[in-house]
Amino acid sequence: MPHAYPFLSPGQKKELSDIALRIVAPGKGILAADESTGSVAKRSQSISAENTEENRRLYRQPLFTADDRVKPCIGGVIFFHETLYQKTDDGKLFPQLIKERGMVVGIKVDKGVVPLAGTNGETTTQGLDGLYERCAQYKKDGADFAKWRCVLKITPTTPSSLAIKENANVLARYASICQIHGIVPIVEPEILPDGDHDLKRCQYVTEKVLAAVYKALSEHHVYLEDTLLKPNMVTAGHSCSHKYTAQEIAMATVTALRRTVPPAVPGITFLSGGQSEEEATVNLNAINTCPLHKPWALTFSYGRALQASALKAWGGKKENGKACQEEYIKRALANSAACIGKYESKGDKGAAAGESLYVANHAY
Ligand code: 13P
Repeated sequence: MPHAYPFLSPGQKKELSDIALRIVAPGKGILAADESTGSVAKRSQSISAENTEENRRLYRQPLFTADDRVKPCIGGVIFFHETLYQKTDDGKLFPQLIKERGMVVGIKVDKGVVPLAGTNGETTTQGLDGLYERCAQYKKDGADFAKWRCVLKITPTTPSSLAIKENANVLARYASICQIHGIVPIVEPEILPDGDHDLKRCQYVTEKVLAAVYKALSEHHVYLEDTLLKPNMVTAGHSCSHKYTAQEIAMATVTALRRTVPPAVPGITFLSGGQSEEEATVNLNAINTCPLHKPWALTFSYGRALQASALKAWGGKKENGKACQEEYIKRALANSAACIGKYESKGDKGAAAGESLYVANHAY
């Protein structure tokens, strides 16, 4: 067997690992603000706002300009392509603003899911064509990390071994392209919460999917110290009649991760996957207090669970920017405490804190 030919110099490895460690520094996680225009359309509908480019800018501006209270909570922000080139009211590019606040700029680089022929409704994620060139440009435009989301579904017949293999491979190919360009890849194999399966079934599938992902990353010579994993928490399906405690969810999640994710990986940044804001915070806290050895930072990379109350408070009106910001800050502080196991639910909840954020067959 030949050697892996080195593709990163010691200096490049160090640059990448410093980026990853800054994102998941103690108390910090990620604001996933990379909803595609189509996803924003659905969110806008819920508040009867028009989905225009200006409205998307007006909604995100209060999140990005939130005051110093969020500095110790947010290590990185994931942008959608359009947002990377938008500016504040006074003409500052959003990425520049984020960097000045000591946060790392990230970019969603996948181009969404497409059907995998011959499977029972399974998908792969497209976007590899031109990715090499796009990453070079994004790095110049200020992005130091990236996200690529793959989606797997639990049914009695899925995920198929084809879907597991194909999605693991595409994630590994993406990750290696990012690293060549000095971009830390967030590897996101999301297992959807749709279905009535129990906790054990989700744990089993999560272990199989993650094992395949790390095998593929190894085959593609991806340098694990310079990656982050963005998995689902291990939860029962949305329609499962049995309700599990946060401690049960935490134990199943940490067990699955310990069996499959090498300790070389510096951080695991969970997606919220349709949990309510409060549930996502309580479960993250339980994961961090779970009495098993955890060699990685365990934190959040939430979209819906950081933004649901903020979006409600904004309601499509510019004059509600301040109220929107306050709701966002509340969730950022709560999740910052949860990612070091210090969250205590005080009932100080936002406009949507207890509301389910579940969307069937969710796309991002
Ligand atoms: P949710 O936290 O809303 O699941 O989204 C996070 C994300 O970035 C999914 O790709």
